[in-house]
Amino acid sequence: MIQQAKTILRDTFGFDQFRPLQEKVITDVLNKKDTLVIMPTGGGKSLCYQIPAMIFDGLTIVVSPLISLMKDQVDQLTQYGIPAVVLNSSISEDLYQTNVQKVRSGEAKMLYVAPESLMMDRIRDLLEEVTVDCFTIDEAHCISEWGHDFRPDYRQLASIRKQFPEAVCVGLTATATPRVREDIKEILEFREGGTYVASFDRENLFLNVVDKDGPVDQILDFLYTRKGQSGIIYCFSRRQTDEVYQDLKDEGHSVRPYHAGLSEHQREIYQNAFIRDKIDIIVATVAFGMGIDKPDVRFVIHHDMPQNIESYYQQIGRAGRDGLRSDCLLLYSHSDRQKINYFINQKEGEEKEVAKKHLEDLIDYLTTSECRRIPLMKYFGETYHSDECGMCDNCISMKDDMEDLTIQAQKFLSCIVRTEERYGATHISDILRGSKAKKILENGHDKLSTYGIGMDFSKDQWIQLSRLLVRRDFLKKDPEYGSLLLTPKGKKVLKDEARVQGVLDRTQTAIDGSAAARTSSDVEDKYDEALFEELRKKRKELAEAQDVPPYVIFPDTTLMEMAYFYPQQEESLNDIYGVGSAKLKKYGDDFLEVVKTYCEEHGIDERKREIKKKKKKKSSSKKHEQIGIDYNEGKSLEHLAEEHGVKMPTILKHLKTYLEEGNDLRQDGILEATDLSQRKVDEVMESMEKVGPELLKPVYEDLDKSVGYSELRMMQLYYLAQDGNK
Ligand code: ADP
Ligand code: ZN
Repeated sequence: MIQQAKTILRDTFGFDQFRPLQEKVITDVLNKKDTLVIMPTGGGKSLCYQIPAMIFDGLTIVVSPLISLMKDQVDQLTQYGIPAVVLNSSISEDLYQTNVQKVRSGEAKMLYVAPESLMMDRIRDLLEEVTVDCFTIDEAHCISEWGHDFRPDYRQLASIRKQFPEAVCVGLTATATPRVREDIKEILEFREGGTYVASFDRENLFLNVVDKDGPVDQILDFLYTRKGQSGIIYCFSRRQTDEVYQDLKDEGHSVRPYHAGLSEHQREIYQNAFIRDKIDIIVATVAFGMGIDKPDVRFVIHHDMPQNIESYYQQIGRAGRDGLRSDCLLLYSHSDRQKINYFINQKEGEEKEVAKKHLEDLIDYLTTSECRRIPLMKYFGETYHSDECGMCDNCISMKDDMEDLTIQAQKFLSCIVRTEERYGATHISDILRGSKAKKILENGHDKLSTYGIGMDFSKDQWIQLSRLLVRRDFLKKDPEYGSLLLTPKGKKVLKDEARVQGVLDRTQTAIDGSAAARTSSDVEDKYDEALFEELRKKRKELAEAQDVPPYVIFPDTTLMEMAYFYPQQEESLNDIYGVGSAKLKKYGDDFLEVVKTYCEEHGIDERKREIKKKKKKKSSSKKHEQIGIDYNEGKSLEHLAEEHGVKMPTILKHLKTYLEEGNDLRQDGILEATDLSQRKVDEVMESMEKVGPELLKPVYEDLDKSVGYSELRMMQLYYLAQDGNK
């Protein structure tokens, strides 16, 4: 049966493989063993019952507390071509009857209901008539008084479940202490069966804590490189929420507020606009986020200190459900801490003690100088095994001194002059990087002498540089058009009369954080942004026509892969993450057309699914070249990291660039640096052979998370180096 499950995973959902626990859970569920699944948000709980539901002959009931989420889930399943229906008070009587009919006839494989609906006679009667094979309870912690979200209605589920003795029971939750876990199993009278607990580490979240110092400016800095991305900004109070909202709005951001002072109707409108990508940012009190399943929230900012780690983790957990890198920025100030202390002191007895302990844990997290995942995971009862996650501010902080950026600044400034100070940072970066975007070709900017002279910097780096130049008064932004203008100071740089020094890396300018910390994915690093935008447009158009959120058509991850591999025929589109047969049929032509048109315009071919080694022309001696040469001459990775005052991931990144430029790299030095046994090394190599070395995540999962990302990064280099020497 698990084979059948794998086929469904591939054909219907378009995913290559199960995540670590999914396969085990699904096997148990198919064998009718009651199962409790504890995974963090975004961990992939839904498939654990959705795939069995498609295999079982009878019906799968899914109990869920939030009406909005049910509808969302059903919408998504419908897109995959899976027959699921919802029965609750929010739908019209006509639709209700149609759905009842679908359940009765066995056409619907899944029924989503709220617990209170299950108590209603008309539903009870309906369920009497059909075979129920699986009884799934989402947000199962709501059943326990020990949970943070107890719902009395959930208590009834115990008796309801008895109605279906043949059905297997599946409980799902993202937050459960051992106490709550036991409670769930006891109340639901679990028969033999397992509890599966996934790691709570969310590797794709970049954790960043900075001192609060002019928060609005800090937030504006942060947003500067994130135009068009979805994000949530949490504030402590309504008043604060309104203020931040107003400030961002005044700066031209697409933003709405959300707090208890607004009418329910108003809140719903704003929430919907956010989910449907009609606005980018929500500024909210903690009231916002329940019942939101938006997978592509790219950042969560805490303008104020959260109450405790639990709520902090829940809030940042709303970012990056799709597994793509997402940023969590917390602005920390001592006075916030005193504010919380003040509230705690109003409490009494045990409650006060507990709150105090929670605050201490939070402060530990905020003030640590080691990897932030260490105190965080400790709080959740896990030990974080790697001492360097590469995805928090502490791990990537560099002791590097200032770099001389004069030459880069000259390139940037002269490009502004050549385009008559009429453009913003993005366009200038595109020219420097030799982009073939329409706007560039139309304006003849590909004929400029500065066209393509900036390949040594990524687009992000150029944009960071532009910010640095604005901050330091070498450039100013035209208040009306947003174009960049040279200041007298900037002109001096062009005449070689002034120098520009600074650090582009995200740690010093920690807030804007646009440089990639982890080289986990070539796709994420190098996808074609212009094509991605075109694909997003198409997606939005399709979503609006059907009145569904854009992400139910395809998640960002899928569009990103399309904008990396440029698939131009059905088979290659089928290979893209998240493209299953139903969606291929429904949307294949629409998206293929976008890709094809784009590729024709720009003369681009499909990218083959293997690492391409580009023989780039050598640019003047760059840091990565120096590091590559030194390394090949025998310096160890550690030695190099120390010498350059950077951490290992940075050295690896430089070496990867060096390798990608067509140079060879000795392999033994990499082996020296890892702690892996030869057996593990071989396992990793095999896995990379199988799932490809470009993306580390699939390898990580293929190996059941037994090898951490820092090791995998080394192994990726090892793998690629071996390729190069063949
Ligand atoms: P949860 O309910 O635990 O918060 P979801 O079930 O919504 O998480 O899954 C989170 C995301 O991960 C979804 O976008 C889902 O499509 C994706 N996903 C789940 N399982 C897999 C898998 N095996 N391979 C690839 N993507 C997956
Ligand atoms: Zn870390």
